[in-house]
Amino acid sequence: MLTILQLPVLNDNYIYLLHDPLSGETAAVDPALAQPVLDELARRNWQLTYIFNTHHHGDHVGGNLELKARTGCQIIGAEADKHRIPGIDRCVNDQDTVQLGQQTAQVIATPGHTSGHIVYYFAAANALFCGDTLFVMGCGRLFDGTIGQLWQSLQTLQTLPATTRIYCAHEYTQNNGRFALTLEPDNVALQEKMADVATLRARQQATVPSTLAQELATNPFLRTDSKALQTAVGLQGGDSLVVFTRLRALKDVF
Ligand code: ZN
Ligand code: FE
Repeated sequence: MLTILQLPVLNDNYIYLLHDPLSGETAAVDPALAQPVLDELARRNWQLTYIFNTHHHGDHVGGNLELKARTGCQIIGAEADKHRIPGIDRCVNDQDTVQLGQQTAQVIATPGHTSGHIVYYFAAANALFCGDTLFVMGCGRLFDGTIGQLWQSLQTLQTLPATTRIYCAHEYTQNNGRFALTLEPDNVALQEKMADVATLRARQQATVPSTLAQELATNPFLRTDSKALQTAVGLQGGDSLVVFTRLRALKDVF
């Protein structure tokens, strides 16, 4: 069993603390800040073994060096980002595996948001830590990756089991959902999802994780084959990548 804690930090970031009870090993995924992680570790009497970084942006690596200095943890990140992930100890590539005690994560390269972005997939735990690649009802915007890369990365993630829990790095859900509703106002799954989201946010609760099944039913960036969506963006029968490109451009200015 993999214990997963979700720490909300900054405006809308989530840090995840992963703990393997059998070995006692603990990992922080994308620690934007060190202190909330140190506080939670102290509260639970856990030792930090690893940091798993998905990409190099400051709101994902900001706590790296302090956590490493304070805990001696090992920092794992993409080979492609080794020059820009602070304190990186181990470089990984697509299809590599990383261990957290008894738990195994598969590394999947998902360039697009950035050129070096990776995600961590724990198949046995049904959990995907996807950073800024896939969000609830949305996806990451482009920095130094390309639209074609982002498209391919999302195609890859869609091949995971539908029950996979999607642990993304930001609480962007409500805004993403509003955009999605402009495209598919008659999508019942989307309407229901947004009602749930409104309830959760009114209580200041997280809307993350979702599941891949929910994303397939509601996330416009995974629904470029939807006739209603294609019509909404004026690209009926359009090539999927062309529709996707249009969606990303529209969301950028939404
Ligand atoms: Zn980012
Ligand atoms: Fe981010």
